[in-house]
Amino acid sequence: MNNNAYEIWKSLQTAVEPLVSALTFDIWIKPLTPLCVVNDYLIVRTESNAAKTLIEKQYLSTLNEKLKEAYPNMAGIEIITPVQEADFQLFIEEQQKEEDVKSDVFVQKYTFDNFVVGKSNALVAAAAKAAAENLGTKYNPLFIYGGVGLGKTHLLHAIGNYLSVNKPQLKCVYVSSEKFTNDLIEALRDSKKNDGMKRFRSVYRNADVLMIDDIQFIAKTESTQEEVFHTFNALYFASKQIVITSDRPPREIRPLEERLRTRFEGGLTADIGQPDFEMRVAILKTKARQMEIYDMSDEVLGILAQKVQSNIRELEGLLTKVVSFANLTERSYNDVNLVNDALKDYKDYLEEIITIDNIVDTVCAYSKVSKSDLLSKKKTKEIVEPRQICIYLVTDLLSMPLTAIGEYFGGRDHTTVIHARNKVQELIADENSQTAIIVKDIKNSILQR
Ligand code: ADP
Ligand code: MG
Repeated sequence: MNNNAYEIWKSLQTAVEPLVSALTFDIWIKPLTPLCVVNDYLIVRTESNAAKTLIEKQYLSTLNEKLKEAYPNMAGIEIITPVQEADFQLFIEEQQKEEDVKSDVFVQKYTFDNFVVGKSNALVAAAAKAAAENLGTKYNPLFIYGGVGLGKTHLLHAIGNYLSVNKPQLKCVYVSSEKFTNDLIEALRDSKKNDGMKRFRSVYRNADVLMIDDIQFIAKTESTQEEVFHTFNALYFASKQIVITSDRPPREIRPLEERLRTRFEGGLTADIGQPDFEMRVAILKTKARQMEIYDMSDEVLGILAQKVQSNIRELEGLLTKVVSFANLTERSYNDVNLVNDALKDYKDYLEEIITIDNIVDTVCAYSKVSKSDLLSKKKTKEIVEPRQICIYLVTDLLSMPLTAIGEYFGGRDHTTVIHARNKVQELIADENSQTAIIVKDIKNSILQR
């Protein structure tokens, strides 16, 4: 059977294109990226949760039907979000090996030159550059943390790209913490017969530069923490450069062995903040230029920059949508009405995904409180706290009137809502507080999953 995700996807696209509108095809189907085939499922990645939900609802059955027509042995299509991509890393690599594709490890466009620098990331960008220029001596380890879609992976690839030009003789290893874990598990399994561990260690401990992306996931496995610790030491004491990224600072990765936390904090810890309005505009301009668009009006750039505040990947996605919408309808992307039309869809879908129930369910699951308790009049501490967090998140994520929120939370009035919101705001002002960490965790899982 043809096992090549890319080939399958290409022929599937051709089959589906005549069946949907040009707009649909361009905006929803075309941007999907085929990754691999696992257990006869074709795995494709979409750029956002919103897109995933929409595609599953509207187009998945057509896609599946066409897939089975052309490839009767295939079981179906599985759509995943970028966050889940790492889970498939192993399969993606296997497939690449099979295809014998000699692609560069580092994404070419993720360079320092293409990285827009502003207030929120100036320190981090300078540190990454300095680390690449002064390997092992300046900032070691360099620990970069920050929210989803703010450029952590981009910076790691920028270091890799820089080194492959300037110091091509060096062995530069980039790995996600999931891949590291998977490799380790496989090595341990393989150990008796084939010297699996020996091979594993020869990859990671002989690196001149080791970059581990999204290290927060190692919290899950003890054996991985152990191996990271020894790998870290081997490299560190040989003055090899180590760069680590995470969605949170070391002290918030839990559980994390104390000795690892100390190691991670032993060099430079730098956070990559959320871009302010001006910087979002600057990023949009850069991305537009990359699409050979030089005349997008400030008004349109402003509308887009206003729409997405904290995720640069989404910001890019919006720009692409507006541009393809303009192309398809043969209107100008500087036509504000067109832009609003293009964005309306997007907002509706987002609001469809994040609902008040959705927030309440996530908080309940996280704090192990039942929904009926949370919405009741009960005032015990175990219930009041999650309830306040919930109210805070609803005010933060949804544009819902305060009275309606109060109504939903057991018929409380809007002053109670304001009180709860302010209380949580106060608590999370100290970003080390327990509440701040909990809120961040919950928010991440609402926004990502
Ligand atoms: P993270 O790893 O932090 O989740 P990524 O590095 O994957 O985020 O970045 C998401 C997208 O946003 C990428 O396409 C990246 O090129 C882009 N991006 C992030 N920060 C910047 C920046 N400062 N300048 C230009 N593009 C950026
Ligand atoms: Mg990343």
